Amino acid sequence: MMSLFKFKGGVKPPTHKSESTGLPIARAPLPSRLIVPLHQSIGGMPRPVVQAGDKVLKGQLIGEADGWISAAVHAPTSGTVLEVAMHAQPHPSGLDALCVVIEPDGKDEWITREPVDYKSLKPEEVRERLQQAGVVGLGGAVFPTHGKLTASKTVAMEELVINGAECEPFITCDDLLMRERAEEVVRGIGIFRDLLQPQKVLIGIEDNKPEAAAAMRAAVDALNEPFLVVQVPTLYPAGGAKQLIRVLTGKEVPAAKRSTDLGVQCFNVATAYTAWRAIAHGEPVVSRLVTVSGDVRTPRNYEVLIGTPMEELLKLAQPHPDTDGIIMGGPMMGFLVPDPQAPVVKATNCLIAHCERLFPPKAPEMPCIRCGACAQACPHELQPFELYWFARARNFGKTQEYNIFDCIECGCCSFVCPSRIPLVQYFRFAKSEIWAREREKNAAEGAKARFEFKQLRDEREKAEKAEKLARAAAAQAAKKAAEAAAAAAAEGSAPEATTPATETASVAAEANLPSDAVDPEKAAKMATIQAAMERAKAQREAAQPKNTEALKAAQQREIEEIEARRQAARLTDPAAPAAVAPASEKAE
Ligand code: SF4
Ligand code: SF4
Repeated sequence: MMSLFKFKGGVKPPTHKSESTGLPIARAPLPSRLIVPLHQSIGGMPRPVVQAGDKVLKGQLIGEADGWISAAVHAPTSGTVLEVAMHAQPHPSGLDALCVVIEPDGKDEWITREPVDYKSLKPEEVRERLQQAGVVGLGGAVFPTHGKLTASKTVAMEELVINGAECEPFITCDDLLMRERAEEVVRGIGIFRDLLQPQKVLIGIEDNKPEAAAAMRAAVDALNEPFLVVQVPTLYPAGGAKQLIRVLTGKEVPAAKRSTDLGVQCFNVATAYTAWRAIAHGEPVVSRLVTVSGDVRTPRNYEVLIGTPMEELLKLAQPHPDTDGIIMGGPMMGFLVPDPQAPVVKATNCLIAHCERLFPPKAPEMPCIRCGACAQACPHELQPFELYWFARARNFGKTQEYNIFDCIECGCCSFVCPSRIPLVQYFRFAKSEIWAREREKNAAEGAKARFEFKQLRDEREKAEKAEKLARAAAAQAAKKAAEAAAAAAAEGSAPEATTPATETASVAAEANLPSDAVDPEKAAKMATIQAAMERAKAQREAAQPKNTEALKAAQQREIEEIEARRQAARLTDPAAPAAVAPASEKAE
């Protein structure tokens, strides 16, 4: 007998489970149309790969995974794509999201399915197949399963915990799954075990599901698996991953840490089942089990195609006339769906027909009396009344200091509050405000980054333009130099015409450098200056008399003649000057 541990807090609300476990799982008929949201898991939003008018087969890819943490989406039946457009989502916000709307053709015709023996595949191929099949956590978190199936390199995997606790009131889909399809669940757990290689596999089931526990034990024995099926005390929220890990292993997963840091990984039983169908039958996730209960005549579990409008599904269970809304999920963590036409998605485990008889309106909220009951009930050891004060005062920084993001919105605090304060609603409000501010901050930072990038780009373009102009000017100068050199060469006294290449070579030679060590632009400039100097020199030479010796002799002769004439004059006139300047000096 394995010893179990307790988690802190918890409550015992009425379970309302027996209502929907009396009938076996039924297959819901094809709806009039299927509205399949593309974003059905945590992570990147799949890209649509179909458009209006396309014919699709059941299981055909309609949304391609975007990145590693993302999961593909498939057509739930064969038919025609009517549109890829925004539609209402099953979300408290009531916001629309991108969906592929399919009109069924009634044939429910599958694509060619490719079953494989996963033992013949490499681990990364198994993970890839799970991603392509759109397998995500069906316990509510919808985290892509393949992303949780890589063993840590630093922490040894000690326990693989399989969650069959299903602690929330009204919900029985996991119970019925284990009762009716235990063997496939156990085979799916076998895939997880082979990929993660844990030392132990523990299957936790609340002790209010004896039939499910018996069926799972029988399947484990039949398949000769060393898995332990453990019945845990019925106490809400024993089905929370951290709480079940605590109960089964005694390990407390601290805030801001993951269970894998402590050598534990956790999956829901329905996730194991879909993983097995995906690998061994080649069937992507196009349907899931949904409990339909509450204010209806025939509460039961249905196998429902993803994308089925909730209102159509609810009609199958024959709601009473006083039904005034639909709750998705259980009464503790679920929410009233703003639009009954919203579709069933991978996260939809239960629809509860809401009426005032089952869920009487709460008496008005009273002031907090600081009784501390909420803190005692909180399974995450938070201080809900403090969080409440800070959320109410819109002091969101303080709510973060008091670890609001550790709150799993289990509703235990609201359940026990004598002042009927809807504490969870305050926490949801605070979280959404913090996320909105975070988004705004990220958007502002994004805008700043885009502005800086634009500035950088403008500067780079300016520099490139200036460089281009300089190159053109250098080419022009080199061309002119070449023309001048050619003209001088034609006259016979100029240096040979040069090209930029020869200029570069000559500059390099003068500087005693290899020719490629000299900047061609600089070389062109130097060649231009050189050519100009050559031209000036040539002009000076052309301006000077060619035969200076002859000139000097002629001048000498002239001086001698003048001197002779002067001597002759002096002989006739003794007052005449004694000497005269040469003819060249007179000219000045
Ligand atoms: S249970 Fe309600 S009244 Fe009591 S401390 Fe918490 S919030 Fe206040
Ligand atoms: S809703 Fe949050 S604060 Fe309230 S009991 Fe649950 S975890 Fe604690």
